[in-house]
Amino acid sequence: MSKDPQFSASRRAFLTLSRRTRDVPVRPPRSDEASIAAHCTGCQECAKACPENIIVLTGNQHPVLDFSAGACTFCNACAEACPTDAIDSTRDSNWPWKAEVQDSCFSLQGVMCRTCEDVCEPRAIRFKLALGGKSEPLIDADQCSGCGACAHSCPAQAIRLTQQETQTEKITA
Ligand code: SF4
Ligand code: SF4
Ligand code: SF4
Repeated sequence: MSKDPQFSASRRAFLTLSRRTRDVPVRPPRSDEASIAAHCTGCQECAKACPENIIVLTGNQHPVLDFSAGACTFCNACAEACPTDAIDSTRDSNWPWKAEVQDSCFSLQGVMCRTCEDVCEPRAIRFKLALGGKSEPLIDADQCSGCGACAHSCPAQAIRLTQQETQTEKITA
């Protein structure tokens, strides 16, 4: 069990089980595959409106967030600019994306790095010390906003955003 009291507290009562969906493009907030497929005309207004310049239009001219270019601030500019209901500013901002650390993480290889922790504003990342000078970055899915700042900043390009459906179960012991 983690010795970090803050992290332990969030883990003490509940166990969060995650089912991850891979290889799905990260569409802008307040949109999804269905709304983009049904309504997107490829007009590029969302990409022009994004102050972070992280929206790229793929081969079929549908918008995808590119975290190599920056992080999403959830400012809603893309939704307000969209002339169709592809990105709908009135829609619930239920954002299913969470950060996930890959094996190429420097810290998991024993190389000192805390870049992701430093850039994570919600403080969703903690490190657990392990043998051999290694430490494991742990992401608290409840705290992670899915902004992509860690993925953008990771020098090992070891963080990706994955879509997670979470199930929470109470731990009795
Ligand atoms: S919510 Fe704002 S920062 Fe995020 S993709 Fe849309 S315009 Fe860009
Ligand atoms: S503004 Fe809306 S319709 Fe235009 S490219 Fe973006 S998502 Fe598609
Ligand atoms: S995606 Fe954002 S909130 Fe989530 S761990 Fe990375 S920096 Fe923190």
